[in-house]
Amino acid sequence: MQTLQRRTLFKALATAGISLGTIGLSACSKETLKADGANAKGKTVLIIGGGFAGATVAKYVKRFDPEVNVTLIEPKTTYMTCPASNWYLAGLIDVQTLTHDYETLKTQHGVAVIHQLATAINPQKQTVSLEDGRQLSYDRLVVSPGIDFKYEAIEGYSAEVANLFPHAWQAGPQTELLAKQIQAMPQGGRFLMVAPPNPYRCAPGPYERVSMIAEYFKKHNPTASIMILDPKDKFSKQALFAEGWQDLYGQMIEWYGSQDGATVTKIDVASKTVFSDFDTIQADVINIIPPQKAGKIAFTAGLTDESGWCPVDQDTFESKIHSNVYVVGDASNAGTMPKSGHSASSQGKMCAAAIVSSLNQLPMPPTRNVNTCYSLVGADYGISIVGVYQNQDGRLSEIPGSGGVSTKGAPLSERKLEAEYARGWYKSIVKDIWHS
Ligand SMILES: Cc1cc2nc3c(=O)[nH]c(=O)nc-3n(C[C@H](O)[C@H](O)[C@H](O)COP(=O)(O)OP(=O)(O)OC[C@H]3O[C@@H](n4cnc5c(N)ncnc54)[C@H](O)[C@@H]3O)c2cc1C
Repeated sequence: MQTLQRRTLFKALATAGISLGTIGLSACSKETLKADGANAKGKTVLIIGGGFAGATVAKYVKRFDPEVNVTLIEPKTTYMTCPASNWYLAGLIDVQTLTHDYETLKTQHGVAVIHQLATAINPQKQTVSLEDGRQLSYDRLVVSPGIDFKYEAIEGYSAEVANLFPHAWQAGPQTELLAKQIQAMPQGGRFLMVAPPNPYRCAPGPYERVSMIAEYFKKHNPTASIMILDPKDKFSKQALFAEGWQDLYGQMIEWYGSQDGATVTKIDVASKTVFSDFDTIQADVINIIPPQKAGKIAFTAGLTDESGWCPVDQDTFESKIHSNVYVVGDASNAGTMPKSGHSASSQGKMCAAAIVSSLNQLPMPPTRNVNTCYSLVGADYGISIVGVYQNQDGRLSEIPGSGGVSTKGAPLSERKLEAEYARGWYKSIVKDIWHS
């Protein structure tokens, strides 16, 4: 009989290298675990989006219960990661290092991969429509489309203008365009970043980006300047970034926040100018990272609320709007968890466990999620922040004392070590999701 016993799920988790503590499945009531005869064999899980969240769910549903049919719907045949894309801007790595395919998911895990855009979801009939006209049925659906942009929030900005002033906040051609613009910037020119308001993907990402651009300029354009106009009054790991900028780049990077009136409301493409109460600024290269919301299909399917993100159960990631539909990764509202690749993958594992439990009619134990965010301030200068999160009163919140942040004023030897950890983190997470 193919029934998945709950202890088999625990065993699968352990085999997958996930300790109960890490994944957050409590071991407290193991001896009472009994399957009730439910059988997930032949049940179908569809997953929309093959990024950090969706690709993790695909792998781990199959790992936890190989009898389930898993199909991943993703238009791209290769996926370029945003994590480490700032390192590429600094010239520290190449595009190939950032690029991953779906072969291991297909050949080693038996995931079916369809390279199509999902265009509609019918939660009543439990079907998904694809761009080529096909319609697929599901028992459980995972929606993990990442983010979309509120272009209209900045007058004069649009998807078209992003081809001139790239956001590079979804990796791919945008990242390569921004790299080319940085390389072509005149000596002594100005690079301007318009940072996004909360919540957005990768809280430290904009500040790692300017660090990596400074790393590039230091070698290739030492008289260049970098300005950040930010609608926030503070940002992630701010004191650590400020310390690193001072140590490595002197006065090259200037940051202005909402307290300075630096919220950009309008741009003029022809004159390469941005407007804010702080000042009207012209620049040679302009990187605009607009405000963000859940990926389009989440809106089309009615999975979002007024926040622009998808409300979900904070243990299983099942949508609070449509049953048998789960939303993981950046598109979900995961309480205070940062929107990151690490969070997305952690959530993907929880969600896979929840789906396999539900298909086998097993109870889902309480969960825990982990986030780690490394940032390179320089090629050999790393900093990090980590936290463990659990559902507290219906909201994923950091467990007090569970995490931490790099020490301010630490010796350079420690920063160098953290830079190595950052590179190790990247290698291990992409290996886990796409290559093993
Ligand atoms: C510059 C930068 C640096 C970052 N650095 C880090 C870091 O160091 N560490 C970290 O943890 N995080 C980092 N992040 C954040 C990380 O990239 C995101 O949080 C992560 O990608 C979220 O994963 P996701 O699966 O939710 O979305 P995504 O990775 O964006 O994946 C979504 C996928 O869904 C697909 N899709 C969308 N719509 C559809 C549809 N209708 N049908 C089918 N497929 C669809 C897309 O093609 C895409 O492949 C960084 C982000 C940026 C921008």
